[in-house]
Amino acid sequence: MITTDTIVALSTPPGAGAIGVIRLSGDDAIRIANSVFSGKNLLEQDSHTLHFGLIKDGPVVIDEVVVSLFVAPKSYTKENVVEISCHGSNYIIQQIISLLIRKGATAAKPGEFTLRAFLNGSLDLSQAEAVADLISSDSAAAHSVAMNQLRGGFSTELNVLRDQLIHFASMIELELDFAEEDVEFANREQLHELINKISLVLNKLIRSFELGNVIKSGINTVIAGRPNAGKSTLLNALLNEDRAIVSEIAGTTRDTIEEVLNINGINFRLIDTAGIREATDTIEAIGVEKTMQKISQSAVLVYLFDIANLSATEIREDILSLHKPGIAFVAVANKIDLAGDVLPELNLPDGVQVISISAKENQQIEELKQLLYDTAVGDQLSDSHTMVTNIRHVEALQRTQDALSSVQNGLDNPVTSDFLAMDIKLALYQLGTVTGQVTTDDLLENIFSKFCIGK
Ligand code: GDP
Repeated sequence: MITTDTIVALSTPPGAGAIGVIRLSGDDAIRIANSVFSGKNLLEQDSHTLHFGLIKDGPVVIDEVVVSLFVAPKSYTKENVVEISCHGSNYIIQQIISLLIRKGATAAKPGEFTLRAFLNGSLDLSQAEAVADLISSDSAAAHSVAMNQLRGGFSTELNVLRDQLIHFASMIELELDFAEEDVEFANREQLHELINKISLVLNKLIRSFELGNVIKSGINTVIAGRPNAGKSTLLNALLNEDRAIVSEIAGTTRDTIEEVLNINGINFRLIDTAGIREATDTIEAIGVEKTMQKISQSAVLVYLFDIANLSATEIREDILSLHKPGIAFVAVANKIDLAGDVLPELNLPDGVQVISISAKENQQIEELKQLLYDTAVGDQLSDSHTMVTNIRHVEALQRTQDALSSVQNGLDNPVTSDFLAMDIKLALYQLGTVTGQVTTDDLLENIFSKFCIGK
């Protein structure tokens, strides 16, 4: 799939801005840019240089621009690349792009620059996908995961595993050549050990997906509690601004409110289920379908209760009815400014964390944030520097894991070398689909079509 045509697209977001960057990539990028540029002769300039000049359509000046030159192979795509920084008006941008198309460039398809970078070997597939993640990352943690993946952290770990497997595959292939003589070049015990080792790493990667995905999209956190427990007040205290409406009249906040809170670089999507309080004044109010639905989609449930007004039995009942396996539960006693910071004996289920605060007086709010972080993220970020954030990767890893189980089975209930070799090959193939040693046009099409144009 060697492409030589020159593609062009706006690489900055569409819409008016101070500047817009139009990118050209391909054999003719510099020639085409030069044909509309009035200034130095771009064909005679060094790579990685900037040039001020005019873009002209015949005698008509379209804009004053700065042109950056990247001569192949020292560019993102490894092709000749020209970036034209022009004034960020839609009109100017469209004029320049259509002029360049008239001069021989073609409009780039979504992700085509990155596709070329991949095809020309400057990125592997998981790195290319990381570019997409990087562009869309909106928190420090999402950014660092994408950056790590882009720098090859993910592929490096997989490639080491793949090399070890390739070694075994070749030993077993060798056995096939000597089938008559019934020899074993591949030490079955060592293979067993290697498979175990690889399985452990794969499992870690597969598990990291859950957290990785959460980091990418934010941790859904529901705040539930009886009317007047102080949910809106708490939301304000957490977000440190008066966005939600706080009122003494139950039912003032009508819809569920969603706000994003950043704790230590992780986005928590806070959902205040205030709207459902209208139902009744009792526990049914937080038991209604809408809350339960929100809760079932959340990763963390914050149950807020008014310690000054609720008995230990009521608190316990609420917690038992809201507590669901798989959803982290944080019970928060509010209004300690009225009731004092003494919790009654609650005898709570395992894993339920309790903290006392005053939402109104801003007491223990930072501690609550830290508790939310510890509950949802814990130390998972520190020990798994390699994180899978992509559903395609996790599926391929899962299929690799399945293939490895077959190899393991074949070792436990001895099968012939040719069956072993087949299963190992399948596992190698699946690993290869993650980093791009194995690709099909469909797969590429699927991945790169998700990019925006200009990437
Ligand atoms: P919601 O119905 O759960 O959203 O509760 P609100 O946030 O609207 O609060 C209900 C009432 O409790 C309001 O008058 C708040 O000012 C008050 N409130 C909330 N948190 C505290 C607190 O920590 N201490 C005291 N004294 N009052 C609070």
